[in-house]
Amino acid sequence: MNFEDFKLNSTLLEGLYSMGYKGPTPIQEQAIPVILSNKDLVACAQTGTGKTAAFLIPVIEHILKSETRYLNTLIIAPTRELALQIDQQIDGLGYFSGVSSIAIYGGNDGFAWEQQKHSLENGADIIVATPGRLKALLQSGGIDFTHLQHLILDEADRMLDMGFFDDIKNIINYLPKKRQTILFSATMPPKMRLLANQILHEPESINIAISKPAEGILQQAYVVYDSQKEPILKKVLENEDFKSVIIFASTKEKVKALEKSLIKHEPSLRAFHSDLDQNEREEIMRKFKSRNLRILIGTDILSRGIDVDGISLVVNFDAPPDPEDYIHRIGRTARAEKTGVAITFINERDQLKFAQIEALMGRDVEKVTVPDEFGKAPEYNPEAQKRKQNGKPSFNKNKNFNKRSKPNNQNKKS
Ligand code: AMP
Repeated sequence: MNFEDFKLNSTLLEGLYSMGYKGPTPIQEQAIPVILSNKDLVACAQTGTGKTAAFLIPVIEHILKSETRYLNTLIIAPTRELALQIDQQIDGLGYFSGVSSIAIYGGNDGFAWEQQKHSLENGADIIVATPGRLKALLQSGGIDFTHLQHLILDEADRMLDMGFFDDIKNIINYLPKKRQTILFSATMPPKMRLLANQILHEPESINIAISKPAEGILQQAYVVYDSQKEPILKKVLENEDFKSVIIFASTKEKVKALEKSLIKHEPSLRAFHSDLDQNEREEIMRKFKSRNLRILIGTDILSRGIDVDGISLVVNFDAPPDPEDYIHRIGRTARAEKTGVAITFINERDQLKFAQIEALMGRDVEKVTVPDEFGKAPEYNPEAQKRKQNGKPSFNKNKNFNKRSKPNNQNKKS
């Protein structure tokens, strides 16, 4: 299948090809016709699948078809980083067709607030907004949604996790009842279904291989004691083939401590966290994207918010809190069919958690033998850890998780 099959406007096709997109990804193949047909849609797709363009392409096509140009589409996203990325993709895709967008997000100074208000007065085809700032703007009466046709909620599960449920419902009260509503989410927890039932009308559903990382990722794990993590990480980073690296740690404090310790060893490294102001965060991200910074260290806030191609290595310095986060984190590498490596350090406490991640993916991750120079490492025995942690009977991953997991026999170790 190729993009011409959707009979898109030629200026939009030009935009697509200039972005280097040769053909639609699976989520795009399925979502574009549904959105073009004006039906409501619930789509389950992770980042890295091309989900953003899956909703932007048909929405831009709708805009190009409309005879008069008013504010046509509202996209709500959980973080300013994601809102900015969506805005940038609109710039790229809409470059030849002149479709315009405004990003509205909080956390910046009064000047930016005034600028956002000013851009709104000038009008645009699409607004991309974070819920908090949008709600504030709506209350000040700054946006005319009379002609709005499409509402898109991106990474809706993340927005619910962040406590935006009521804000979103409140925002929807300002929108015309007759509209197309599209909801994209990596997971479908019950609260999400509730929201979907309340705001969508007879939606179509699409589910793209949820909970499976991209095929091009080489996944490895080191089973270690906490004290072994840092020395092994330093060794791993000596490999200069890893030109662009993201390291995830569990807390902001750990991120800062790791930065302090690793920077002596590897100067091209920065921590990315919420204590930095907006300008600092944007500057770090710019440097990282342009390859003037080799390593970023962050918490899970990084895993959803960044869109950088060609990351060669993702390191989970601490095992992620839940399986979906693991998939999101390692999805930062091997994006859109490129290859990459994901390494996870598993301490004894996290063994059970990691076994659950493996169960969700339906495959085991290769455990790399810890070289002798780092001392004796613990064994990987999640069942024993489970008994130790809560005294319950042995762990049976298939029994507990086979409802959510999809076996991937090709990748299964024999
Ligand atoms: P997303 O899942 O929206 O975060 O997109 C992941 C990455 O894939 C982004 O860098 C997009 O620019 C890129 N991408 C989206 N669609 C395509 C496509 N059809 N072909 C190649 N790359 C794409």
